[in-house]
Amino acid sequence: MSTQSTETSPVTSSTQSKVNLLGLTAPQMDAFFESLGEKRFRTSQVMKWIHHYGVDNFDEMTNLSKVLRVKLHEMAEVRGPEIVYQDFSDDGTRKWVLRVDGGSCIETVLIPMDEKRRTLCVSSQVGCSLDCSFCSTGKQGFQRNLTPAEIIGQVWVAQRSFGPRTDTTKRPVTNVVMMGMGEPLMNFEPVMSAMRLMLDDFGYGLSKRRVTLSTSGVVPAIEKMTGQIDVALAISLHAPNDELRNELVPINRKYPIKMLLEACNRYLDTLGDNRSITIEYTLIAGVNDQPQHAAQLAKVLRTLDCKINLIPFNPFPNNDYQRPSRNAIVRFQTAMIDAGYVVTVRSTRGDDIDAACGQLVGQVMDKTRRSARYTELLPFVDVTDASDSAAE
Ligand code: SAH
Ligand code: SF4
Repeated sequence: MSTQSTETSPVTSSTQSKVNLLGLTAPQMDAFFESLGEKRFRTSQVMKWIHHYGVDNFDEMTNLSKVLRVKLHEMAEVRGPEIVYQDFSDDGTRKWVLRVDGGSCIETVLIPMDEKRRTLCVSSQVGCSLDCSFCSTGKQGFQRNLTPAEIIGQVWVAQRSFGPRTDTTKRPVTNVVMMGMGEPLMNFEPVMSAMRLMLDDFGYGLSKRRVTLSTSGVVPAIEKMTGQIDVALAISLHAPNDELRNELVPINRKYPIKMLLEACNRYLDTLGDNRSITIEYTLIAGVNDQPQHAAQLAKVLRTLDCKINLIPFNPFPNNDYQRPSRNAIVRFQTAMIDAGYVVTVRSTRGDDIDAACGQLVGQVMDKTRRSARYTELLPFVDVTDASDSAAE
């Protein structure tokens, strides 16, 4: 049994003129308090209230003076996205559809990996402009970038759903993957700000190995990240040669495989030892799942320190691709393991899964479909396994 709700969250109404403190990084909050003539230690106090304790009402921030609280009421707000749908399933999976300013909806999913780890899949844009041929978000087209508050707001909502946090050493959300709707590197600064908040001890205090950015390969943005932030990087490769990748991931025409892998190597060079890139490879029957594709992939990846995460294609309406048979998936995995790679297959639950990244919003909006299917969502999170084992 799962519980579902269409309640809205107790957030304040949209007030464009107020600064939303939810999305401010520590240096930005320092600047904000300085502009109010306040000392910098206010930053750690307020950040803890917001991100550790999930507080959005200044009156509850009891270690702030009354005068400051009044000032904050006038000038600022802590405003998360509005919850339009949530589903907490017995297996620990939690899903939200969130409405952001302007009325668009995004999705966020929390998936338990084991007793200790819960991975949150976070969206970075409403829709996506990159139009990968196998992706339902891409088929929706691009609507807009999310703000830092809307991105970190997804972590905030997920953490708050566990109730007031009395022991801040226990984390309801242990891992974040930027694998929801959108291409994070097409929304660079807001995504960087949100990831800084995920890593910051006054924010969510997550380890750099437990925050993963997944990209289809926006090379200039990977270059820009290099040396600027230290998080795990996952690359949506999906094809072992440019001809096929041009078809599946059109941004490849601009930034082909060789250029992309070189950028990955430069990114890795700036990180410490024992770090590697995760290569995501969605397996599509008859398209990229044949033995010759595996052989070519093994060759292409020789120059990169990487682990491979195979994702069985997740079908969605009005798309003709098929998921490969279990045998074909195992055959591909075995070929890559034999070639010396660490290869995981993203788990699927049931054989008729019809929802994944980008598809939950469509289902919730489509009143003709029933909620029973939501619990069949594909967990798209094994990507964190490899980096975690190195960290522990
Ligand atoms: N835009 C980013 C992150 C979001 S998509 C990116 O492309 O990396 C997260 C992962 O799910 C990507 O690897 C993406 O290629 C994959 N994906 C998208 N649609 C899929 C589908 N229908 N079946 C299987 N994997 C899919
Ligand atoms: Fe955008 Fe990623 Fe989907 Fe491609 S796979 S369309 S980059 S969200």
